[in-house]
Amino acid sequence: MKTITILSGKGGVGKSSISASLAIAISRQKKIIVADCDVDASNLALVFGIKENDYKEWEEITTNQRPVFDLSKCDSCRKCFENCYFESIKWQDEKPELLEYSCEGCGMCELICLQKAIKLRDVMNARIGYAETKYGFKIALAQLEVGKSGSGKVVTEVKQKATQLADNSDIMLIDSAAGISCPVIASVTGSDYCLLITEPTPSSLSDMKKALELVKHFNVPHGIVINKYDINKERSGEIESFAKKNNIKLVGKLPYDKVFTEALVSMVPVIEKSGKLDVLFSRIAEQLLK
Ligand code: SF4
Ligand code: SF4
Repeated sequence: MKTITILSGKGGVGKSSISASLAIAISRQKKIIVADCDVDASNLALVFGIKENDYKEWEEITTNQRPVFDLSKCDSCRKCFENCYFESIKWQDEKPELLEYSCEGCGMCELICLQKAIKLRDVMNARIGYAETKYGFKIALAQLEVGKSGSGKVVTEVKQKATQLADNSDIMLIDSAAGISCPVIASVTGSDYCLLITEPTPSSLSDMKKALELVKHFNVPHGIVINKYDINKERSGEIESFAKKNNIKLVGKLPYDKVFTEALVSMVPVIEKSGKLDVLFSRIAEQLLK
């Protein structure tokens, strides 16, 4: 099974809409499994029209830990408070107190406490599940609990779940989170190809360059799709020149079209709403499969 990951340096450039339509275009030629790895804001299933009751086998998972303090052993040395890189421990009445929402579960406080007053405990930080789409393939996804960390490891779990559900699929299509942080790194790791979505705005291009660095670091073959290329043709030209200069394949260009918004509102992938876009998505799918 080959893995194609769709990512974008910047959020809001249409990545999930494009992922959903590309999944459908690819599934006409190959057996696929989809993994929604944007675990902080998982919404690809919504684009496929999947509702809460359609999910199967929600399972609580633990990929992170939190420190628990035994204050009867604490001698108030302040070491944990002074050395927590994430400033997740506050000092209250001469004792440490955990600020749970900012704790990353790194475990440093447990290591540094000579009184052995701190122990790390597993915490449930996400739910993982899957659903059947009406397009003949499954989608694996997870939802990170509010205020919980460990999203990179949750992404790895989603990919494993998708592998279990793959049933001899040819392609795993991953919809990554935006940005360049842990969940994106976990999505890109092990991919056979990365497709970067950008749009002709200064911030999108600069953020895409950062995502590109990440993809190059992992030595993954990659290409670019420019979404809404016609809202600023001059800027689109700059992206094309940048791609040419850096030997990056321009896999496709999609126009601005209000039908994208109409499709999102009606929870239908845009490929189903427009014959013109169907042709464009099919061409991009062809390029990816090549
Ligand atoms: S490092 Fe241990 S002993 Fe020192 S303040 Fe923290 S909990 Fe207390
Ligand atoms: S586990 Fe890490 S982030 Fe959390 S309180 Fe301890 S040192 Fe800070």
